[in-house]
Amino acid sequence: MTDDIRTDRAEPVGAESALSAACFAAGDGRLRHGAALKFFWGPMDCGKSTMALQMNYNHARQGRRGLVLTRIDRSLGPQITTRIGLAHEAIEVTEELDLCELVRSRWAAGIRVDYLICDEACFYTVPHIEQMAELVDRYDVDVFAFGLASDFRSCLFPAAQRLFELADEVSRIQVEVLCWCGRPGLLNARVVAGTVAREGEQVVIGDTVDEAEVRYQVLCRRHYRNGDLGGNR
Ligand SMILES: [Zn+2]
Repeated sequence: MTDDIRTDRAEPVGAESALSAACFAAGDGRLRHGAALKFFWGPMDCGKSTMALQMNYNHARQGRRGLVLTRIDRSLGPQITTRIGLAHEAIEVTEELDLCELVRSRWAAGIRVDYLICDEACFYTVPHIEQMAELVDRYDVDVFAFGLASDFRSCLFPAAQRLFELADEVSRIQVEVLCWCGRPGLLNARVVAGTVAREGEQVVIGDTVDEAEVRYQVLCRRHYRNGDLGGNR
């Protein structure tokens, strides 16, 4: 974990920190140092979790301290795992978890938090996304969210929609995932017994291995729409 280093974040010192605290206390809404809410999205297998852990590594190397969060990761423990084998402990984002409370409780314990890495953000609730905005605007905490945009029906996840609406920056992850036909993969098809599912629960844990009863496969729009899985039935 990266959150075990105690600092004086709760009691800022120095002119700049004092000014920041004054602005914060005044609540005048002026731009302070420019914390941001950033949303990185892409289909399955495009390297989102790898990028999330890389982002954490980059910021930690600069001496910043953050929390790594996830929800419904492929692994069953509270950690982020990536398909290329990286892993990192993570805080599980439950329905009841308040992200602002989480950060405030760390600060109250003398633990510095400069940023949050939020993996699988598409599975968070809409209130969680509002809390991310609050952390940026009120507490100057950077929030980097990673996730899918759309579900197996090709409709936006509510949390992803809210991120598109509220984020300071939205980036489509460029690592290219291809449909079996060679076109760019865009949509996350749920395959049940060899057929592209068109209705059902929004979140069903599946796998990406071919033999699984419920699995997911990235398709281009054309082959998503006509349900053609190529040779991969
Ligand atoms: Zn295709």
